[in-house]
Amino acid sequence: MASIFTKIISGEIPSYKIAEDENYFAFLDINPLAKGHTLVVPKKEVDYIFDLEDDILAGLHIFSKKVAKAIESVISCKRIGIAVIGLEVPHTHIHLIPINNVSDIDFSREKLKLTETELFEIAKKISKKLEL
Ligand code: 5GP
Repeated sequence: MASIFTKIISGEIPSYKIAEDENYFAFLDINPLAKGHTLVVPKKEVDYIFDLEDDILAGLHIFSKKVAKAIESVISCKRIGIAVIGLEVPHTHIHLIPINNVSDIDFSREKLKLTETELFEIAKKISKKLEL
C-alpha cells in the first residue's frame, strides 16, 4: 500500500508544498515543532534511510540543503536542525527544523498549533525563495 507521503507526492492528499524535482519532494510538517518545520522525502518509497541507494541518499541531502537555505532566509533562527526519526511514517524523510536551542528539536515537546492560513503563508514564502 502506498505510504501517506507517496499520496502527498501524487497530490492524492493535500500538503503545504515547498518544492519538488524529479526525485525529491518537500512540504511542511502538519504538526510542526517550529514555524517552517519541513519534511524532505525521496519520491521513491523506501522506509529506512540507510536502505536508500547511495546516489538517492546523497541527492536527498543536497536537495535538503537548498530547502534549508530557503527556510532560514524566511524564518528567524540560529540554524536549521536536521533529524531523521521515521518511526511514524515508513517512507524516508528528513526533518528540517528552524532552531535556536537544542530543546527546539525535542520531538517529545508539544507541537505548534498553526492555522491553515499560517501554514499556507509560510509555505508560500519559503517556496518563493526556491524559485529565484
Ligand atoms: P517520524 O516518522 O519521523 O517519526 O514522524 C513523521 C512526521 O510526519 C511527523 O512529524 C508528523 O507530524 C508528520 N506527518 C504525519 N502525517 C502527515 C501528513 O499527512 N501530512 C504532513 N504534512 N505531515 C505528516
